Amino acid sequence: MIPFDWVEPRSFAEAVASLDPEDPTVRPVAGGTALMLMMKAGVFTPTRLISLAQIEPHYSAITVEKNGALRIGAMATLSALEQSSAVAEHFPVITETLLTLSNVRVRNVACVGGALAHGDPHMDLPPLFAALGAKVLVRGPAGVREIDVDSLYAGYYETMLAKDELIAEVFVPALNGAKSAYMKCTSRSADDWPALGLAVRFEVEGHAHIRNPRLVVSAATEKVTRLTQAEDILKNAEADSVVLKRAGEAAAEEVTLLGDAHGSASYKRELLRVYLARAIRHALAGKSAQ
Ligand SMILES: Cc1cc2nc3c(=O)[nH]c(=O)nc-3n(C[C@H](O)[C@H](O)[C@H](O)COP(=O)(O)OP(=O)(O)OC[C@H]3O[C@@H](n4cnc5c(N)ncnc54)[C@H](O)[C@@H]3O)c2cc1C
Repeated sequence: MIPFDWVEPRSFAEAVASLDPEDPTVRPVAGGTALMLMMKAGVFTPTRLISLAQIEPHYSAITVEKNGALRIGAMATLSALEQSSAVAEHFPVITETLLTLSNVRVRNVACVGGALAHGDPHMDLPPLFAALGAKVLVRGPAGVREIDVDSLYAGYYETMLAKDELIAEVFVPALNGAKSAYMKCTSRSADDWPALGLAVRFEVEGHAHIRNPRLVVSAATEKVTRLTQAEDILKNAEADSVVLKRAGEAAAEEVTLLGDAHGSASYKRELLRVYLARAIRHALAGKSAQ
């Protein structure tokens, strides 16, 4: 391995100051589970890694506010999120999603900030947080800004983060009774990388009258992508089998699907067509979070 510098700032501000906007070989490292794989594969050769392990504990906090909104520090591990009883009570969809995300060894060290900043479209949390209407709070030398998770990705492994910006926190608005589901469609084991990731969030009136749907696809697309045409079909509609079929067909037509080791583009199109209705039904049948 080519030698590189390792620095361990004691504060978030110091970590931001250690980044270099001009040099992509200077990177922050959270759990290191993605970065180390890239280094071992030889696709990333750092000159300097800035470990976030020693920054203020505040950045590992997970808090459900009185109004039901969730704040997650960027350095909270995926295991801490999975094991939070407050998250399980208010956002059961997050807890369920984490159970099949990779394996417990990875979840014990991987952090929420790393999971969102990596930009691999096969990851499970970005589409879920995008559907939930989450924002990341990002800090750089110019100050703090917010980015909606559904706008965070610029392309395959590309984010809207500048090289000298760090994710500080994720904010997830309260569900307030809205329904949500994440469908991870794998073609091998249940905890494998998904061939298709599909997240939904919507409000419901009466039995199945849908309001304000947010539908997000990933893994089959080059980045996390909203399914706006399918959303338009579901908006203010009764989620009966005819409407769900139309929405699934619209979803399968409106995005460019990519084949990979997990399935061909045509297989993924079929998954999307079928799983959209399943995700809505699963969300409707799920227990209402607060
Ligand atoms: C065996 C294995 C199986 C996996 N299976 C799955 C799976 O099924 N589903 C899934 O979703 N994921 C899966 N993953 C990926 C895993 O979720 C990611 O590796 C992990 O979430 C990355 O988090 P990290 O803290 O380790 O990030 P790191 O490896 O530390 O960093 C990843 C990227 O984010 C940047 N970064 C880190 N923190 C910040 C920050 N605060 N602000 C800005 N940039 C930051 C780093 O510079 C780097 O570019 C798997 C990984 C492994 C090793």
